[in-house]
Amino acid sequence: MKGKINDIFESVQGEGIYLGEEQLFVRFFGCNLGCKFCDTQINNFREYEPQQLLQGLEGYKSTCQAVSFTGGEPLLQKDFLKEVMSLTKKAGYRNYLETNGILHRELEDVIDLVDIIAMDVKLPSSTGQRGFWQEHRAFLKIASRKEIFLKAVICQSTEEKDLRLALDLIKEINSALILVLQPNSFDDDGHLREKMHNFKEICSQEGIQSCIIPQMHKILYLK
Ligand code: SF4
Repeated sequence: MKGKINDIFESVQGEGIYLGEEQLFVRFFGCNLGCKFCDTQINNFREYEPQQLLQGLEGYKSTCQAVSFTGGEPLLQKDFLKEVMSLTKKAGYRNYLETNGILHRELEDVIDLVDIIAMDVKLPSSTGQRGFWQEHRAFLKIASRKEIFLKAVICQSTEEKDLRLALDLIKEINSALILVLQPNSFDDDGHLREKMHNFKEICSQEGIQSCIIPQMHKILYLK
């Protein structure tokens, strides 16, 4: 079995509540969405056997304790992901899955091997796509068996009603989950800061813990 991988590298986690943790990254080729704010242009890939990919990671001889599976959308190559996660787990790494939170059937197949899930909530007024509330609901139910936090990208175009739908979903599944509000800093005409604070206030009023965390790797020009 072979997987299509765009890149493997060592860096620091640039998003979410594990911000700043040194990790090994495996960037999967291909995505099932086309978010209008997407900053991940993936045009090429190299094919790896699972064992070959593990060897590639071990070649870094790093002290990283976690492997971040990112993309694109890693769950699109679920069978390959499962094989690799099984190897990385045996090798002593924590498996950290970054996902758009839609492919719940695929998640069910790999959930036992996942340690941490960083799940996007795709707000339609941010992505320019349709809402994925049913898919997110099914995904979140499965993902809640493991450590998970949620992340929503906030743009100038993001509407309050979408945030409220996300909060309703969180309250329905597990109101203890943390929601990271991630500003699309490159879409800021000076009013985004105000919106971020308003949105954080709404989260607080609704009893959901949230934090505002920008993408650090872009600020520091890291990979
Ligand atoms: S899910 Fe992620 S990788 Fe896919 S289009 Fe949206 S932002 Fe880009």
